[in-house]
Amino acid sequence: MIIFGASTRVTLLAIVNFVCGNCHQPAAQRVYLKVLRFSLFFIPLFPLSKTRFVDCVYCGASTAITKDQADRYVEFVENAKLEAELDREFGPENPAPTSAN
Ligand SMILES: [Zn+2]
Repeated sequence: MIIFGASTRVTLLAIVNFVCGNCHQPAAQRVYLKVLRFSLFFIPLFPLSKTRFVDCVYCGASTAITKDQADRYVEFVENAKLEAELDREFGPENPAPTSAN
């Protein structure tokens, strides 16, 4: 007997902040990748489909997004992390003006 089926795996890619399309609140949006894999004898073998979606932490609504949108969000978060790291290392690029006393 051959046992086959599909398994789903959801991975958190990034967390970004923007105004939610559902509740219209500026809130954190979790960006997820959901992969449906064909499995044989409960061993996931190859992906059948890949979908990406954002999930609003304020209202819980989830919205499907394209691969390009997901990639842009991930890139944005990685750039922000890199910038924060550079700021820690070398100080902020545009330091806040100090009061002239
Ligand atoms: Zn929302």
